[in-house]
Amino acid sequence: MKKRLLIFMLLLGAKPLFTTAQTTINRDAEIEQMVKEISSDSLKSYIHKLVSFGTRNTLSTITDHSKGIGASRNWIVEKFRQFAKNSNGRMTAFVDTTTLAADGRRVDVATNLGNSVAILKGTDPNDDRIYIISGHQDSRVTDVMNRTSDAPGANDDGSGTAAVLECARVMSRHSFPATIIFVSVTGEEQGLLGSTYLANQAKAKNWNVDAMLNNDIMGSNNSNETNIIDNTRLRVFSEGLPAYDLDKNAKGIRNFGLENDGKARQLARYVKEIGERYIDNLEVVMIYRNDRFLRGGDHSPFVQNGYAAVRITEMNENFNHQHQDLRTEKGTQYGDLPEFMDFEYLRKNTGINLSTLANLAKAPSEPQEVKIDVKNLTNSTTLSWKAPKSGTAKGYYILVRETTSAFWQKKIACNDISITLPYSKDNYFFAVQSFGTTGNESLPVIPAVGR
Ligand SMILES: [Zn+2]
Repeated sequence: MKKRLLIFMLLLGAKPLFTTAQTTINRDAEIEQMVKEISSDSLKSYIHKLVSFGTRNTLSTITDHSKGIGASRNWIVEKFRQFAKNSNGRMTAFVDTTTLAADGRRVDVATNLGNSVAILKGTDPNDDRIYIISGHQDSRVTDVMNRTSDAPGANDDGSGTAAVLECARVMSRHSFPATIIFVSVTGEEQGLLGSTYLANQAKAKNWNVDAMLNNDIMGSNNSNETNIIDNTRLRVFSEGLPAYDLDKNAKGIRNFGLENDGKARQLARYVKEIGERYIDNLEVVMIYRNDRFLRGGDHSPFVQNGYAAVRITEMNENFNHQHQDLRTEKGTQYGDLPEFMDFEYLRKNTGINLSTLANLAKAPSEPQEVKIDVKNLTNSTTLSWKAPKSGTAKGYYILVRETTSAFWQKKIACNDISITLPYSKDNYFFAVQSFGTTGNESLPVIPAVGR
């Protein structure tokens, strides 16, 4: 049996379980270069332009050329089209519209809803994977139904939309085997309407959405009451028990203790590992919740349709600058203005997205039919799997962690399609990833029971 093993600890501060040769995974030079191209000046210029539209409330005008949500959605698509010129015809952009009837809640008149979308088509015709990065372009003041007062929405969610634009600018010049969709949705503040429309399309058309990153509020570095200033930490929210098909899967989750290993949680761990691999001076903080307390976001319609989706948000929020009428009260300026933002922080947070997306889209797809052998009672663990459906795996990584550990603690490279490890399946969690010639790894797959 010819098996080459490379064993190392992830740099997660965990106490080593095993004494082994340690090494690190090198950055992929292409991704490192792309990350360097992300510009805080570009991000700032996008946000100033978005703010110039006055309000971007979803119910605001779509016919005015310089004000309102219509001007916003058209300008974003125009930017996408400029970037698409560098894509050798692989990137296309359009406003994806639908008409909403008044719903008696946050839509009081029939409304033309329009997401700004750019699609960077993958180069491998056999690869049907789709990766989505989103932010929302609509904005609001104190009254969510107010469609005329200035609602700058620089951070909420100019920051997410700017990140989407900057990723599209940089990534349009590169090619990936899988497809990437860059989207700035509308209707978030009126009830996640644009993202629901997109997630429903994905479901109806049977898109293979492998991961979705929702960026909402991620360019401000401070909190209003607690006086914290910090641009070195970023939150990623992921659901625990899955919203999708929970009843069907609850028995298996209980039996195997997999309440912390759903698709969203796996994606969150991946964002942390890959993001921190490429972005210096930034820690990705995992939050074991689908979203902030009693609040919602555009990843939720994807989560509810069974896709791996997470929310990316700054570490501390300043509520004087969120969902507020522009005003000064007792010397305090309220409102979501660009001067309250930290564009260096937004640059790093955009880099987390770009490196995650690029690493996923360059990787082969996940290994198939990953199984854990249970034929005999043993103190070792045998895993087996099949090659990915698309792309070529140069090898596989076996991920191992203790049942109480939040993060994968070991990453073992393997050239074979099965492995026996001297660690009991009773005491550890395992998962398998594929990796390609430039080292980019797929999302991990938790093994099913194999007999
Ligand atoms: Zn928002």
